[in-house]
Amino acid sequence: MKNLDIFLPNNVFVYSSQKDLKQGTIAFETFNKNIILISEPLEQQLSRNEVKFVILHEYGHIRNKHLKKNIISLTLVVSCIPIFIYFLTSIQFSTNFLIPFIIFSVLFYVSGYVLHFKFVMRREYNADEYAANFVAKEDIKSLFTKLKTIYGNDQDSYNMFNTHPSLSKREKYLNDKKWIKLKSF
Ligand SMILES: [Zn+2]
Repeated sequence: MKNLDIFLPNNVFVYSSQKDLKQGTIAFETFNKNIILISEPLEQQLSRNEVKFVILHEYGHIRNKHLKKNIISLTLVVSCIPIFIYFLTSIQFSTNFLIPFIIFSVLFYVSGYVLHFKFVMRREYNADEYAANFVAKEDIKSLFTKLKTIYGNDQDSYNMFNTHPSLSKREKYLNDKKWIKLKSF
């Protein structure tokens, strides 16, 4: 691991993973320890400041409790909405309402799911925004260029396993912020 010269709280541990990870890095919590994993093959291709950005992106998730929030909103969608719909079914409807009720339930469920993903994506932009406070614009630009070459600029989809917006969208979001908060370290 390169000497990154960043301050992280005592309960945050950064490790290299010899195996390549799907998106290069991952953060998770276990027994009050927060772990950030960065894949060694990725790390070797990045400069010190580029590694700093990806680590701080993950720390941005930890700091803002994004992992817990994502689990809570997903649980709400997959369990609470169906339970709510189930309770609605106990009300005695006239059969005329059957079709509108089915349409309502499907729309309600789908919009809950879409909303969950909107929040997940927003948290990704927030994590990028946090990391951008500590890394120079030029380093972030070169990082995104490298990531697109390594992982390809995947398109957005409402897929259970797609956790990040596309790299172009993330870059555009930071550009639209006009790098206001950016400082060079
Ligand atoms: Zn992320």
